[in-house]
Amino acid sequence: MNTVNTKSSLTPITPRFDPWDPIDSLRTYGQHVLTSVEMTVTHLCNMRCEHCAVGDMLVMKEAEFLPLDLMMKRLDEVEHLQTISLTGGEPSFREKTVDEVIVPLLQYAKKRGIRTQINSNLTLDISRYEKLLPYLDVMHISFNYLNGDDFHEVGFANTLHPVPKETAYRLYDTMMENSRKLSEAGMFISAESMINYRTHTKLGEIHKLIKEMGCKRHEVHPMYASNFASKLPVLSLGEMRLAIDHLLDSRDPDIWMLFGTLPFYACNDNEEDLRLIRRLSNERNVTVRNDPDGRNRVNVNLFSGDVYVTDFADIAPFGNIQSRGLDDIFTEWQTGHPLNQTVNCHCDAVGCCGPNLLVADMYYKDLNFTIRKANTL
Ligand code: SF4
Repeated sequence: MNTVNTKSSLTPITPRFDPWDPIDSLRTYGQHVLTSVEMTVTHLCNMRCEHCAVGDMLVMKEAEFLPLDLMMKRLDEVEHLQTISLTGGEPSFREKTVDEVIVPLLQYAKKRGIRTQINSNLTLDISRYEKLLPYLDVMHISFNYLNGDDFHEVGFANTLHPVPKETAYRLYDTMMENSRKLSEAGMFISAESMINYRTHTKLGEIHKLIKEMGCKRHEVHPMYASNFASKLPVLSLGEMRLAIDHLLDSRDPDIWMLFGTLPFYACNDNEEDLRLIRRLSNERNVTVRNDPDGRNRVNVNLFSGDVYVTDFADIAPFGNIQSRGLDDIFTEWQTGHPLNQTVNCHCDAVGCCGPNLLVADMYYKDLNFTIRKANTL
């Protein structure tokens, strides 16, 4: 087994240390290397959110897993592995998945000194999540609501049959309660809100609720126009800037705010973009994460073994763990894949290593970022 760290020497995850940000490994190794592996551990979910970026892949009956030993072997081979993320669907939907896949993967990571994250809606029985407490570094949840009615409208927009409001209210209350209790028990919960046509005027209020739920971090990303979300209205860049400014004006500066996949780059000539980038870098407890997808991370589907740039379906797989190792597959993507070549840029002075593919496609279609340069901030 490759050992990169030991339990006792692990650096705490804080605004000064975010092991998912690809800029650190780029600076350390002089090129992008694979430090992060995301695994899709289920396609089942008890919700069907309006904006779900993997909505088309959700199923009613799960396929068979590949042997977990194969996944462990492939993780073992990744020389610079620093983080793993587990995603779905709702990873905890089946208790069997928690016991036979999630916990063993988290235990493996803990033993190797690798940081872990799981993406969950936190609406199920708390006992499923308590099983993760001894091993998990970051519980990542989505939170885009002001009340149970918002949750009902957003969370069940794509169900085959209407879901009664009372059912949604119950799940909403469970999620809030789980978040409070798990936070009190020491879990690091990071609540992500997306900036979209529904949330952009309410982010300050959403932030307040996230604080009340005991979360340690508030993440904010633009909505990805993928799968279910591809039919939703897209915000203008001006509306998005305004939403971020309002949020920064009203937030609690004692809570870490992590912005990611923002569509504002230092190579833009727009003064307003540059002003916002400066503001974000000067605010206390605010960080802006470079996009890991395809930079230092790949996604593995644990049912087929296919390897993707993200868990979103729109970009075809470029390898399979049944026939090849992950470092090999990643190197080929990095050096040869035409999609990567359009956004594979790096301006070290401003700590930027290029845009997210989907966000670039939403706002900067056909722009070649590799020939741009950052302005002085
Ligand atoms: S790294 Fe790319 S996106 Fe970032 S400032 Fe430089 S050219 Fe622009």
